Amino acid sequence: MRLRVAPSPTGDPHVGTAYMSLFNLAYVRQQGGQFVVRVEDTDRARFRADSEQQVYDTLRWLGLDWDEGPDRGGPYAPYRQSERLQTYRPHVDALLRDGHAYLCWCSPSRLADMREDQQRRKLPTGYDRMCVGLDRDARAALPGFQEPPVVRMLVPDDPPMHFVDLIRGDVSAPRPDDQVLLKADGFPTYHLAVVVDDHLMGITHVVRGEEWISSTPKHLLLFDWFGWDRPVFAHMPLLRNVDRSKISKRKNPAARLTWFVEQGYLPEALRNFLGLLGYSVPGEQEIFTFEEMSRTFDWSRVNTVGPVFDLDKLGWLNGHYLRKLSEGDFAERALPFLQRAGLVADPATREELAAVGALVPLVQTRVAILSELPDLVRFLFVPEEAFALDPVAAGKALTPAAAPVLSAAADALEGAATWTTPSVQEALDGALLEGGLGLKRGKAYLPLRAAVCGAAVAPPLPESMVLLGRDRTLRRLRAAAALARPGG
Ligand code: GLU
Repeated sequence: MRLRVAPSPTGDPHVGTAYMSLFNLAYVRQQGGQFVVRVEDTDRARFRADSEQQVYDTLRWLGLDWDEGPDRGGPYAPYRQSERLQTYRPHVDALLRDGHAYLCWCSPSRLADMREDQQRRKLPTGYDRMCVGLDRDARAALPGFQEPPVVRMLVPDDPPMHFVDLIRGDVSAPRPDDQVLLKADGFPTYHLAVVVDDHLMGITHVVRGEEWISSTPKHLLLFDWFGWDRPVFAHMPLLRNVDRSKISKRKNPAARLTWFVEQGYLPEALRNFLGLLGYSVPGEQEIFTFEEMSRTFDWSRVNTVGPVFDLDKLGWLNGHYLRKLSEGDFAERALPFLQRAGLVADPATREELAAVGALVPLVQTRVAILSELPDLVRFLFVPEEAFALDPVAAGKALTPAAAPVLSAAADALEGAATWTTPSVQEALDGALLEGGLGLKRGKAYLPLRAAVCGAAVAPPLPESMVLLGRDRTLRRLRAAAALARPGG
């Protein structure tokens, strides 16, 4: 069994590439066989040089690995279509010779006029076969002539318009147009290259997105004309936004795979999430590993109703996977986010690593994605002179009424016997709650948190103070008290 994913390097890798890879891999790892990455870079206008490497990086980050590909080699190399150009030409010549294809010299502007005319007259759009049966000179005498010609397929009167899909059963697709197979620049179109390469690379199962269903009849024709076995097809549902529109990189940042890396989603969470989009493991539990998905994989469990890309759900899953990490693993994954925010040096010093380690128990349950971390812990890492109160939090919390609370807290902490969580807690409670100022803890802590952490949302207060140290804590409390006092 041989399966493949065939990304086109046209920019930031699309989340669909990971989605297809996941389902291809779940099946091929269960069945035993190879998974191939083939780079479909024949669209030179949309080609982007750094895109291919990003595909590799993001798929590897997701733990989705392949057996053969441009970067790995393999028995069917090369795996980049731009390096296979000489492979396609003889196949085109065979189709021309057998009368399954013809040369077309129609210029782009003639084709545009033709299409416009068809639309205006409400006719089905498609090539009108002006060039069929003409040789170069006969065609050159007519308008809208351009060299070099392209090669088009000559779709017969009774093309295949049905096929059996592993997920969908019997599928009917529209009648194909006389598709261009070889472009004027000598590059094959996707439709020719995909068929030639799937055959030559021994691909047995084509698992791809639903948007290719309408192209499948063209591919079936080509397989048949070449006398090759048709592969098995499975068309996965399109991923949709919450409003049911198709996910596109222009409209949704989450269509870009690199976005998930930047935001601090864990690869295991994203993998689980993508699996949940259209698949359910027996028992229907929502948390599952790739191994569980692959072991139980069954095409009949794939749902074709456009799965909705719900980031709330992904955030929930990510929180789950973050909490499951050991403290050491969490620290390791968190570190790059603190470094990128400029809070920790790269490489981190021993003291910084210790500080990050000490933080983990305070924050591990408090973030859904790792990019939320820097704002939560900035107060611990900023040099004292750069520490600034968030104006909104300060405006709300540092009212004149808060001034005595802040002062009382500072006085009590100054006299605390030791600087540990229990003694800090005891000192604060003694001064502020019953027996002291008589406040409720939530109310009493609000200005303290703003004063010490500079923000309304922060890790638990006594623990934060312990990590911050007595000197800095007192300095911040006294400064905030002065600010809160009337006229402060
Ligand atoms: N290059 C195509 C794409 O970017 C591959 C489609 C297929 O898997 O056949 O989606």
